[in-house]
Amino acid sequence: MAAVNGDEAPVFVAEDNVKERCWDQREVLPGEPLCVICGRYGEYICDRTDDDICSLECKQTLLSRIDNSQLSVDLPPPIRLPATDECFYVRDADDKSESQSLTNGQTELLRRKLDIFVKGDIVPAPILSFSSCDLPQKLLHNIEAAGYEMPTPVQMQAIPAALMGKSLLVSADTGSGKTASFLVPIVSFCSNFTRQQFSNLKNPLAMVLTPTRELCIQVEEQAKLLGKGLPFKTALVVGGDAMARQLHRIQQGVELIVGTPGRLIDLLTKHDIELDGISIIVLDEVDCMLQRGFREQVMQIFRALSQPQVLMYSATIPKEVEKMASVLSKDVTVISVGNPNKPNRAVKQLAIWVESKQKKQKLFDILMSKQHFMPPVVVFVGSRLGADLLSKAITITTKVKALSIHGEKSMKERREILRSFLVGEVPVIVATGVLGRGVVLLGVRQVIIFDMPNSIKEYVHQIGRASRLGEEGTAIVFVNEENKKMFPELVEFLKSSGAAIPRELVNSRYTVGSLSGGKGQKKRKHAY
Ligand code: ADP
Ligand code: MG
Repeated sequence: MAAVNGDEAPVFVAEDNVKERCWDQREVLPGEPLCVICGRYGEYICDRTDDDICSLECKQTLLSRIDNSQLSVDLPPPIRLPATDECFYVRDADDKSESQSLTNGQTELLRRKLDIFVKGDIVPAPILSFSSCDLPQKLLHNIEAAGYEMPTPVQMQAIPAALMGKSLLVSADTGSGKTASFLVPIVSFCSNFTRQQFSNLKNPLAMVLTPTRELCIQVEEQAKLLGKGLPFKTALVVGGDAMARQLHRIQQGVELIVGTPGRLIDLLTKHDIELDGISIIVLDEVDCMLQRGFREQVMQIFRALSQPQVLMYSATIPKEVEKMASVLSKDVTVISVGNPNKPNRAVKQLAIWVESKQKKQKLFDILMSKQHFMPPVVVFVGSRLGADLLSKAITITTKVKALSIHGEKSMKERREILRSFLVGEVPVIVATGVLGRGVVLLGVRQVIIFDMPNSIKEYVHQIGRASRLGEEGTAIVFVNEENKKMFPELVEFLKSSGAAIPRELVNSRYTVGSLSGGKGQKKRKHAY
């Protein structure tokens, strides 16, 4: 009988010749148990966790991980495993009991493979298929009809946690499927609820708040798809559309309201709308929603609710948002997937140093270059007027059709512009920040940041429009000394994503002083 620690015996159920090292163990054969640590033949059972393990070495690793995770309060640093298909395509998961039957060790291993980190009490194991968490049949059918074969990693972890009624603060890459990870639990909850309590039919049960009309429209569209055929109606409450119609819909009885805070408050103050029944509220792009400007409005809406479950999402969640989140709900479970607060790894960044006067010409060069122009393209600019002027200039000079989109255009115009862009009639769209957050721009693989936004966070969201579900995209970014405030952070971002950094940016006095290592900093190659 072997023992791991002197004071701990007996250790294994196996009697003799327990393998010491992981590599002494053979590969697993079909149907055999597999080691939760290394995946070899799980010949033994760990007495403390009941997990299958292959050797003393892996038992040690398993126990020390469990001890560490119990000790650490903060999220552990990400451990990067090579991405394998196994991470995302763990099939054979149609059995409902599958995720419940995962042992602690297996759950931990799965999370590590999926790059999922959790902080909070009793967080359920990730699900491996949509069918494993008791969703209504119609919802499962709608998920399949939407083409969602497998949950994405953020959905694997957030859906079961939300279904348990937990308040969540979730960070995951742009384009990683966060929307469905809150809509699936909402549709499930609402359809079950109305089935039982017909007397409350008129009152909304859930609410999603987002910062822009475009995003609200997309969220509502997705909600409708997922709730098709179920007792699940939605109302869109955004500026630019007639309020009377929105009010009428709510009064007819809806389960979900999707809206921007401003218009919602407008509606609430002018009309008597019962929000007591709201059991789930989502703050999508939560960092933006809790910034000055929106924060007061969000708090005002919260005061009309009675302690709902709060689901908060973004690709960028700074520490102060984590603190504010705990004010909105006690006992928030934190979930982070991938590399939080960093640019989407699927987007290749190309930073180019361009003086302001030359920016237009540089853009035209790109749009006229067969090699560099990859339509459909979104060009981000800093102002509404800039968007209008630049789109006209592009069309005239390059003969490439461009339209602008920004907050001053009517809802109808914005819808039509987005439609013509998404169906391919217009290859270039020049946008202000309205398109930066959350909006899915199908087919877009190239983003050009003509005017750097004011914060790295917005930059992360804007370049995120070039990729969805990990597909590769490119972001071309114009930089010059006018963006000096962002140099230190920008350089860190470019560095951490392996992008080349323009010489002028590396050498700038606004960068050099703040670079870690200061003097010893190596110069990187010029980008373009
Ligand atoms: P995020 O909010 O994380 O930026 P979205 O929720 O907007 O990303 O999702 C990005 C895209 O991925 C959308 O087009 C959505 O329809 C699609 N999508 C979401 N979940 C799945 C899934 N499980 N399988 C396939 N596509 C998905
Ligand atoms: Mg989103």
